[in-house]
Amino acid sequence: MEPESQAEYIVAPWDGTAPRHQLKTLGSTMSLFQECFHGQTLEAYSTKYNRTVWLLLPCNQWSCRLCAARKISRLASKTNRAEPNRLLTLTIDPSKWDSPRESFDGTRRQVPELVRKLRLKFGSVEYLRVTELTNKGWPHYHLLIRSGFLPQPVVKEIWASLTGATIVDLRQVKNKFQTYIYLVKYLTKMHKLAWTTRHVSTSRNFFPPEPPVEKNTLGLTSKTVIESNPAKYLFSMFRGATLVELTHGVYGLTSTPDEPLPQESDHVSPSEAPLQHVLPF
Ligand SMILES: [Zn+2]
Repeated sequence: MEPESQAEYIVAPWDGTAPRHQLKTLGSTMSLFQECFHGQTLEAYSTKYNRTVWLLLPCNQWSCRLCAARKISRLASKTNRAEPNRLLTLTIDPSKWDSPRESFDGTRRQVPELVRKLRLKFGSVEYLRVTELTNKGWPHYHLLIRSGFLPQPVVKEIWASLTGATIVDLRQVKNKFQTYIYLVKYLTKMHKLAWTTRHVSTSRNFFPPEPPVEKNTLGLTSKTVIESNPAKYLFSMFRGATLVELTHGVYGLTSTPDEPLPQESDHVSPSEAPLQHVLPF
């Protein structure tokens, strides 16, 4: 596949110790991008590395096994840090609805309503909600809660008044690590909800504030998204060339060969070499 446009791929020699990979086979190239096989490619120019770089853009779909696993472990760790101390399971009563979809539409907004009412009586209540389906497709809600004491009969009474359902399970989370286990368990067996992609939602203050993320430390400009996995794209475009992993998951092409490393007198040292040049791919 030839590039359609007159795209310029900026290649620069690399004298660092970062790992290099020659694009020998598709299989070996694929092994560099294991995080998601459905992802796309971000192609950009990095002002930090003075060259064109490529990164995997993971699909981040719950339906993708690899992305789901990554999301689950991140979410579980973050939730652990939020220190929930109660686990509340809210069911719906299938006899009151014509279909699972209708029951979901009719009850999902009752969860924040229940929490609003609980706050009036018992003060701060923050939660993370996971929507789960029974084998027959009926939804129920698991809430990891951070709050003071909540009497189960009161929670049950309010939920029944809002939805007509009377099965409400409330228990204390004694061991901090339990929340991690709960979440991994629930999220891992989670069914695909056809009606919503929001399997997990939280109240505004459930997660403690995070320090701001330093943005774009690679100094990326001229970004283009290519609808192809980076392994397939890079292999088809640059077969035989050498990639260098500039920093975790960020690849550039290097005009410095894989091996042997140049030792001879015709070697141009990086200080003498032009900072960057364009290879006519
Ligand atoms: Zn994915």
